Amino acid sequence: MTDIETLQQAVPRLLQWFRQNKRDLPWRHNRTFYTALVAELMLQQTRVEAVKEKYVAFLEKFPTERELALASEDEVMKAWEGLGYYTRARNLKRAAETLFREGTPQTWVGVNALAGVGNYTAGALSSIALGLKEPAVDGNVLRILTRFFADDSVIDDAAKRKFTEVLRAVYPDETADFCEGLMELGAIVCVPNGAPLCEQCPWNTLCRAHLEGREEDFPVRAEKRPRRVEYLNVYVLKCGGKYAIRKREEGLLKGLWEFPNEVSPPPYPPPQGGGMTEPSQGGGMSGDAQGGGMTEPPQGGGMTEPSQGGGMRGATQGGGMRGDAQVVGERASPGRAHPERSEGSHKTDGGLSIQGDPSHALGMTQKGTLLAQKNATHVFTHVEWRMTGYLIETETPDPAFLWATAEEIRQNFAIPSAFKAFRVWLK
Ligand code: SF4
Repeated sequence: MTDIETLQQAVPRLLQWFRQNKRDLPWRHNRTFYTALVAELMLQQTRVEAVKEKYVAFLEKFPTERELALASEDEVMKAWEGLGYYTRARNLKRAAETLFREGTPQTWVGVNALAGVGNYTAGALSSIALGLKEPAVDGNVLRILTRFFADDSVIDDAAKRKFTEVLRAVYPDETADFCEGLMELGAIVCVPNGAPLCEQCPWNTLCRAHLEGREEDFPVRAEKRPRRVEYLNVYVLKCGGKYAIRKREEGLLKGLWEFPNEVSPPPYPPPQGGGMTEPSQGGGMSGDAQGGGMTEPPQGGGMTEPSQGGGMRGATQGGGMRGDAQVVGERASPGRAHPERSEGSHKTDGGLSIQGDPSHALGMTQKGTLLAQKNATHVFTHVEWRMTGYLIETETPDPAFLWATAEEIRQNFAIPSAFKAFRVWLK
């Protein structure tokens, strides 16, 4: 039997298995092209469990492309808060504007042209919402298929193209169930990071890796690039019950509100890597990761489409972390304590003075009292932020920033979870 014939035999088994075993997920109800688009963009890099609630709330606020197209960007960012990867939110709004203006696309090419929609997402939307036989191949699907065929191709764009054509050759009329069935199989049975649950798999009498007992030999991955480390000073400035925030103008997390911060030189002595005892990530994808380091996340298909390249979808639907981004943790013992720092607070008499006077780099000149200090780490796709946060009470509000109460910030400003460790200082 050829590979294609073997896969042809597998298709009806998958469809039957999916219908009997699919999870009850909110985006599987009352589906339209728009709701499928919202779900697909939210699910990039994010765990299913973290998306469920956000998806429902988002659609209550923006039930159709019309409401989303007419909303302000700040409103959309606020509704997206906690999901991370905020470029997705901006892209979703732009895509909604296109749908509102031009109607729903009817071809893969038209879907692929929407903002934020790469090859994988175009395949998923075409199959799920338009009934088109367009495969959606991400790391999740590649993992399943390389196991199924015991194929030791390195997971890259060429493998993606190859398996896209393999799937196209067997794509059934039940496009939505087939596409979602593959996703579901990767999420709950043919899982990454450890042994797949082959005894529950509808393909276990056909899958070559399983028959050879080599499930964990696949997929074969390319070497990963090392992640760049950046050190940041983050200032939570407090004055008269209000806190300073500003909109980030460029790079990673562009357009989002943040605490004033600046890149700093590596501390001396360098902080020890351990001691991350308090993960500051609350129940879900906290990533504000942008796939391309300090650039916007990669979009537009190929293996660079955010989320889909590394099997993250499967990982998250299986209950693990889907995103590239995560807050690793925080530790209370700074690696760069100020020599004059006394227990709990430190007041300078010539302006803020914290190890090398970093406040000056922010242009702050007024006096301040250091109330607290702690370190936290946030991991993006290609960058890791090692942050030292300073809670500082200032005597006058610096007009360079917007000042708001903790409640106003909670209600109106999306502060990325990269800064979550320091948000707890807002009282
Ligand atoms: S039999 Fe096992 S390895 Fe093969 S597709 Fe199924 S779960 Fe994956």
